[in-house]
Amino acid sequence: MEIETIEAVPLRRELDGTFANAQKWIDSREYCLVRIETVDGTVGWGECWGPVAGNRELIEEYVAPWLTGQRVDDVERIHDELVFKLRSSYHSFVPVSVVSGIDIALWDAYGKSVDRSVSRLLGGRYREEVRAYATGHFFRDVEEFETLQSIIADEARGHVDAGFTALKQKIGLSGHFPWGPEEDIELVRTVREAVGDEIDLMVDANHAYDIATAKRVACGIEDLDVRFFEEPVRPEIAYYSRLKEDVTVPIAGGESWAFQHEFNRVLSENAADYVQPDVTSAGGITSTERVATLADSENVQCLPHVFGSAIALAASLQVIATIPGEPMLEFDRTPNPIREDLAADPITNDGDVVRIRDRPGLGIEIDEAVLESFRADG
Ligand SMILES: [Mg+2]
Repeated sequence: MEIETIEAVPLRRELDGTFANAQKWIDSREYCLVRIETVDGTVGWGECWGPVAGNRELIEEYVAPWLTGQRVDDVERIHDELVFKLRSSYHSFVPVSVVSGIDIALWDAYGKSVDRSVSRLLGGRYREEVRAYATGHFFRDVEEFETLQSIIADEARGHVDAGFTALKQKIGLSGHFPWGPEEDIELVRTVREAVGDEIDLMVDANHAYDIATAKRVACGIEDLDVRFFEEPVRPEIAYYSRLKEDVTVPIAGGESWAFQHEFNRVLSENAADYVQPDVTSAGGITSTERVATLADSENVQCLPHVFGSAIALAASLQVIATIPGEPMLEFDRTPNPIREDLAADPITNDGDVVRIRDRPGLGIEIDEAVLESFRADG
């Protein structure tokens, strides 16, 4: 089936409140979606990581003329040739978000064109549902550390009341507040005490620390039964390897890495205990699936990073269906109307379980009226 049109669709929505991780305050959500339509009218949707700017121009002006007329079921060949084409043009880097958005849209359109779910096309499913962990506990704009402790503890108890048995919290306060690693450790202790010992707890520093500080924090949370410490240092593979030699808490990372070859270095240099590729920034469903296979061959669990719209969530679930071992779904619990409302039949949790759909393509239909209401160019 030939591809007829490729369109970049910019979405943006301001949020009612602001919240922060170690790197930035978040007051809006913005996505560059990809819409691919075949000659018979089959439509596939993809999503790029990052701002609309850059993604949109590359898709419309650079990728679309090349992709038009190609077969929608040549997904992996198109992925590889697009990577090479972009590398040749930009030399020192590949705009991987563009590759990701195109790849997800192609898989969705391919699946819909043959009436099969993407997980079936990828080789079949290990599971029909997955355990979801609640991502949240972002920083709020407060004056007193005790106020933040109280807000984060209340939020954690709320996720547990909603049925979640695993939580991930943010640490790395020093970029925004007059507080540092000791308060970060204290904040983890606050959540552990709020939810008790039966809940799995993870922490995410969004690469806030240098190696020495990351060691200090890893040591400080050692008695809090933290399942993994995510992005402790800047995403340089050597930094991870050096840190990992000296800490006992398992180290996780991957949302800032892309493609099989980079994760191959991560694994061969023993840089992470868990790898977390993101379908919208690691090279789409194709690359995320390859990374998961590579990780499995090294006896390392792949736990995809998910922090996007309804499309990223649906695409991640299709990959998770195919990952060996015990993957979990990162289930973003922060306010995001584009995640909650974009699909006509939204993917939701039942306690700590999310069903993985076995419907054509990514398993969702986009609500076109809602899409129009989010359009940044409308
Ligand atoms: Mg993270």
